[in-house]
Amino acid sequence: MRYVSTRGAAPVLGFSDVLLAGLADDGGLYLPERWPELPPLDELRDLSYPEVAARVMWPFVDGDVDAEGRPVPGALDRESFESIVAEAYATFDTPDVCPVVPLGSTGGETGPDLHLLELFRGPTLAFKDVALQLVGRLFDHVLSARGERVCVLGATSGDTGSAAMHACADRDCVDIVILFPDGRTSEVQRRQMTTLGAANAHAVAVPGTFDDCQDLVKAAFADEAFRDEVHLSAVNSINWARVMAQVVYYVTAHLAVAPDGGPVSFVVPTGNFGNILAGWVAKRMGLPIERLVVASNRNDILTRFFSTGTMAITEVVPTTSPSMDIQVSSNLERLLFEVLDRDGAAVAELMARFRADGSVSVPAEVLAELRAEFDCGRLDDESAAAVIRSVQLHTGLLVDPHTAVGIGVAEALAGAGVLADPSVPVVCLATAHPAKFPDAVAAAVGVRPALPDALGDLFEREERVEHCPADLASVQALVRRAIAG
Ligand SMILES: *Cc1c(COP(=O)(O)O)cnc(C)c1O
Repeated sequence: MRYVSTRGAAPVLGFSDVLLAGLADDGGLYLPERWPELPPLDELRDLSYPEVAARVMWPFVDGDVDAEGRPVPGALDRESFESIVAEAYATFDTPDVCPVVPLGSTGGETGPDLHLLELFRGPTLAFKDVALQLVGRLFDHVLSARGERVCVLGATSGDTGSAAMHACADRDCVDIVILFPDGRTSEVQRRQMTTLGAANAHAVAVPGTFDDCQDLVKAAFADEAFRDEVHLSAVNSINWARVMAQVVYYVTAHLAVAPDGGPVSFVVPTGNFGNILAGWVAKRMGLPIERLVVASNRNDILTRFFSTGTMAITEVVPTTSPSMDIQVSSNLERLLFEVLDRDGAAVAELMARFRADGSVSVPAEVLAELRAEFDCGRLDDESAAAVIRSVQLHTGLLVDPHTAVGIGVAEALAGAGVLADPSVPVVCLATAHPAKFPDAVAAAVGVRPALPDALGDLFEREERVEHCPADLASVQALVRRAIAG
């Protein structure tokens, strides 16, 4: 498989180079040059999660060769890939890795069955682990084969950071520096980043919002001399390998809820558009997906975009679902590249206008194409709390506020006739464990969700936080200190 940039002006690369590059040289995001076809679903039904994962992902990894057709250094063979996949998913607390549980019908009685896809059974209790436990190991494999070392620099609104740090903490060839918006993550999220005790993992508090942190990271990557000097790399949600790893659970969830292979709809609590983009990729690969639903909290740039065709930045407001408190959804660029018929110059022009004006519109026919596959909805904090209560009342399950946003949007759309066909099951993605956001859950239902045993002593562990002003020079100085050890 070869990969092209969404802005059309970066070199075409194979998998391991795309893995290490993160962002493309031209500021774009890498995307495979064609969509491979899924194996027939019936061939996957009796396989374990890691086996399905290896089969679904292999075409994206295969063919990592140079111009003469020789494998590039660090190119993965199938056997190594399979064993890395198995190792990554052995860190989850269930052999199912991403189990599906029935949610019954929490509202209307005549609608389709709702299901919850539990993506939070990994080491940091959020769906980011599904991708990052794999990506951390893939990084180490490729780097050690090449005799290289990198510094992963990322920005997080909470979950990416802890998941990335856990994925990199025990790796030989990686340092990791994660910027997070000071005071805007939950305490559990912060502690998962600050209590790792690994010398190569640095949690850095920055004044401002997630977007400020992300802008600093983008600026550091844009400084070519600096990037080369410290061997900068990224594992944030723009990394193609993360999207690839997330495709798998759409397939396994489909196998679980549609034994006949019929259509399924997915509702996805969305921030950076990485998770739902993977659903769209699964559909491109042939998975029978009926609707893909973008669920936003009050930071609803995506819901407004899918409603009107205009993407316009407004101020970020803090909510009880902070991992979705985002106003620039980076991964949307991959979808725009597709609907603009893979015209990199058109994407570059669109993104430049968006940067300059804080707002950009797509033509009506492009919006229509998007609406043919995506629906959208928004839920405020009060309604999300009501969903947490009603789910607990009807099923006994506690859900986190991000998951609640998805369930609430699913119910609203079912009420509006969009997800109403009883023959099409609806899968709501549960993106975090309720114990990751105990305050919001306790405020909603008066019960404080317990941390799983493995994390029971999180609040007793010693924290290590570095503080950094929100300017590029300070961030660069901090990275240099970090890699010097
Ligand atoms: C990251 C995250 C999201 C948003 O996922 P995107 O891929 O950025 O859309 C939603 N919920 C939780 C709990 C998350 O950690």
